[in-house]
Order: sequence, then C-alpha cells, then structure tokens
Amino acid sequence: SERLKAGLSRTRQQLGGGLASLFGRRKIDEELLEELEATLLMADCGVEATQHLLGELRKRWKRDRLETADQLQKALADELHAILLPLEEPLDVSGHSPYIIMIAGVNGSGKTTSIGKLAKYFQGQGRSVLLAAGDTFRAAAREQLMTWGERNNVTVIAQDGGDSAAVIFDAINAAKARRIDVVLADTAGRLPTQLHLMDEIAKVKRVIAKASPTGPHEVLLVLDANIGQNALAQVKAFDNAIGVTGLVVTKLDGTAKGGVVAAIARQYPRPLRFIGVGEGIDDLQPFKAREFVDALFD
Ligand code: GDP
Repeated sequence: SERLKAGLSRTRQQLGGGLASLFGRRKIDEELLEELEATLLMADCGVEATQHLLGELRKRWKRDRLETADQLQKALADELHAILLPLEEPLDVSGHSPYIIMIAGVNGSGKTTSIGKLAKYFQGQGRSVLLAAGDTFRAAAREQLMTWGERNNVTVIAQDGGDSAAVIFDAINAAKARRIDVVLADTAGRLPTQLHLMDEIAKVKRVIAKASPTGPHEVLLVLDANIGQNALAQVKAFDNAIGVTGLVVTKLDGTAKGGVVAAIARQYPRPLRFIGVGEGIDDLQPFKAREFVDALFD
C-alpha cells in the first residue's frame, strides 16, 4: 500500500536507493556483492541475515546464471521475502473471551501509543475492548491512556498509585463482568539499561494467570525499530522473563533500520503481529511479508 511505502521510505532509500546506485551501473561481480553486503548491514539486517542473504544470492548468481543487476535485485527481494514470511502470523483473538493481551516494552518504545491503535483495530473488527493502565512506572502513561479511552469511548481501568499487577487483575475481572472481548494490558516500562529488572513483569504475568487461568493469551513485546540490533537483546531479555508470543515493531517510518526485522527473523523469530509506520491511529498495520518487501523494492 502507498501508506506502507511512504512509511518505509527511509529504509527504502537505504536499501533500495543503495541498491539502485549499485545495480544501475554494472554487472554482477564480487565487488558488487561486497557493496551489497555493506548496504544490508547499514540497513540493520544484522550479520546473520546478511550472510544468509549473500550466500543465497551467490548460489543463485551461479546456478540461475544471473547477469543483470536487475535480476540480482529481484533475487534479493525473493530471498528477503523467504526470510520474513515465517514472521507473518496475524493475531487471532477469537479463541478466548476475554482475550488477554499483555503488552511489554522499554520506555519510549511506543507501548501506550500502540495500545490506542490496537484498541481501534479490534473495535474495527466489531469487538469490545477494555484497557488496563498497568504502566505505573510512568505517571503520564496512565493519563495518556485515560484521555485516549475517553475520546474513543473505551473503558480504561486505572488506579491511583496502585501496582501494575493489581490494576491488571481488576481490569480482567471487570472485563469478565462486562463480557468484554479483548483486554489490552499495559505494563510498567523500564529503561533499556534495566533489562535485568524483570521480577515485576514476571509477577504481572503470574497474576494474570490467577485472574484468567488460560491467560495471558498473547504476550506482545513492543520494539522501537530505531534501536537496530539492540532489539535482539530486548527480545531475549523479555522472552526469558515472560515468554514473548508476538512482536510489534514501531517507528519504522522514522528510521533507515527497517532491516532489523530480517535480523529478528533469523536470530530470534517470533510472530511479527503489527508494524508501526507513523503516529496516526491507522498507522499500525498487520505485518505482511510480501507487502513489506514490495514497499522496499517496488
Ligand atoms: P511508551 O513509553 O512505550 O508507552 O511510548 P509512547 O507510546 O508514549 O511512544 C513514545 C513516542 O513514540 C510518542 O511520541 C509516539 O507518538 C511515538 N510513536 C509510537 N509509535 C510510533 C510509530 O510507529 N511511528 C512514529 N513516527 N512515532 C511513533
């Protein structure tokens, strides 16, 4: 879509533009492949995905007798698609009611904003939504969520100075009483340097399971694309503590580091449920590998 294309424009320039200048002028040779490697690394594809892509391209160069740079670019798009396709697994909330989504991430990753966008997304599917203002670390997060809820007619359960787990416990009970379809539970963020402080969030998960024995049904980790390769460390730390079942990668619009999704796919694969490509309410989209690759190369 055009919106996705516009959103990914900086990564597109980094990758596509870099490639165009590479491919525009000559035939495929070792030097060109080396420059391609550097371009992929600069777009934050990471060493693992970059090596994999180059390995596959070298094979195809020989096997399929690729000659023109255009053919190589087409092959690159295909291989990138193959890497990303396993991450395409849309979030289906129909299996439980309420379906409880626990949302985690470091401060500033876009957690609270994404919750607002997700609420709108699920409402658009005709489902009722309730928000739990569990980010008790950042006072403004609760206000942000409450204002957003008021404006959009979505119930927000919050407490003055309560702890994260208590707020979410209350919210789940309220959702059951009101027969709500989807609970979006915000959790306390932490600083990127506090990845070792996971006791509180692990407790939140245990408390959710007490309020709803089958829950949480989804543990979503929100990652800011601008952090590039550090995203891998965040996935690992949160996964160890709470078992990440899905990812949201935000701010792909502001960065040339969109290749990070390829790094995640190769090194720490988890379903990439949504990508954020802008600050607007509709700028959170379900991830589709083909659309993503097309937006980068077409
Ligand atoms: P939190 O601390 O994780 O709850 O982060 P916030 O939700 O408050 O988001 C931090 C900032 O990132 C805000 O200014 C958001 O508007 C912005 N933001 C979130 N997602 C996106 C996105 O996909 N694109 C852009 N450009 N900005 C975003």
